[in-house]
Amino acid sequence: MSLKLPIYFDHAATTPCDPRVVEAMLPYFTEVYGNPGSRNHSFGWAGEAAVDTARDQVSNLIGADRKEVVFTSGATESNNLAIKGGAQMYAKKPAGSTGRGHVITATHEHKATLDPCKRLQKEGFDVTFLEPGRDGIITAEMVKNAMRDDTILVSLLWANNEIGTINEVPEIGALCHDRGVIFHVDGTQWVGKMPTDVNAAQIDLMSFSAHKMYGPKGVGGLYVRRRRPRVRLTALAEGGGQERGFRSGTLNVTGIVGLGKAAELASQEMTKDADRLRKLRDRIETTVTEKLDTVQINGHREKRLPHMTNISFGFVEGESLMMACKDIAMSSGSACTSASLEPSYVLKALGVGDDLAHSSLRLSLGRWTTEEEVHYATNKIIESVEKLRVLSPLYDMHNEGIDITKIEWAAH
Ligand SMILES: *Cc1c(COP(=O)(O)O)cnc(C)c1O
Repeated sequence: MSLKLPIYFDHAATTPCDPRVVEAMLPYFTEVYGNPGSRNHSFGWAGEAAVDTARDQVSNLIGADRKEVVFTSGATESNNLAIKGGAQMYAKKPAGSTGRGHVITATHEHKATLDPCKRLQKEGFDVTFLEPGRDGIITAEMVKNAMRDDTILVSLLWANNEIGTINEVPEIGALCHDRGVIFHVDGTQWVGKMPTDVNAAQIDLMSFSAHKMYGPKGVGGLYVRRRRPRVRLTALAEGGGQERGFRSGTLNVTGIVGLGKAAELASQEMTKDADRLRKLRDRIETTVTEKLDTVQINGHREKRLPHMTNISFGFVEGESLMMACKDIAMSSGSACTSASLEPSYVLKALGVGDDLAHSSLRLSLGRWTTEEEVHYATNKIIESVEKLRVLSPLYDMHNEGIDITKIEWAAH
């Protein structure tokens, strides 16, 4: 097979739709177009049947009951519904007062969790942002130490989207259930890639998204536990009362059919995909660390997703490295905010210095990643790092044994 450029190594940002997903969706645009809310004719029933099938496929993937799946527009909406809707429902005091309850999350969460949590702070809730260790993991011990009598909600990632590290979700689930605290998990990077059982992990609410698991963009879901405990939420979108009243609005039938098919395929293929991609990911890391010095792999080496890696290349700007490797799509550890290039807050939370954070790349592999692509990209990255380092006076000084962290710069 010949190598096709550019290469896509950014599957943590989004995945292509599986052709089998597209095929499953197509009839629902033109042939089976009824509104599942139309209860009194066959067009509506056909739409409802399609949504029911998808609900089964999704609940099978995560070990839930079909009634516990609420379809949304994606994980951002699911997180907002879980965090804001959950906090509103379980608040200790009415809106407008302080001390409404305590929420626990972490500093290196996705923005779709951090921003709703900051909103809660403005509305009178107390929020603890846990700091991970250098390995990027939030442990049950950390959560336990942060728990208070008024803690109402814990919201954490299952696996981190920048470094792939895996939090102690089942242990934290057990702790939360012990204390009667609602446990929300952002499972967006995990679900469809790793075996998921919401009961074994004692999860109450879990967000996921189709486009991170080879389904279409703009559709996802929230798992909402119905028994032990029966979780309640204040709806954010009110209207037609769809999805048990948690999320009003005509269902995105085509998208939901796609999500369902993606979930079914994930159930069948995740083990095979994970085993294959782990080997390819490990090969990238081994080759890069053999060929280059001053390289650091970020996050826990074992407790992380098999298909991604986050690597800092000392003395090279991640952005320049990406420019030098234009035919490989990756993410850098710098976030372009309006005015400046900020180092990734996730890597900073792990205690990675600004320099190494700026010099990092995230490579995330997917279902159609080939050995040729891995081979090409690895060599290209190594070559580019070597070229860029030739131009780096700091790298020269480092090689001469000067500790550049101790240099006092004359002017800034
Ligand atoms: C992509 C992502 C989201 C946002 O999902 P959307 O469906 O795009 O809204 C939230 N959390 C994590 C961890 C993600 O990776």
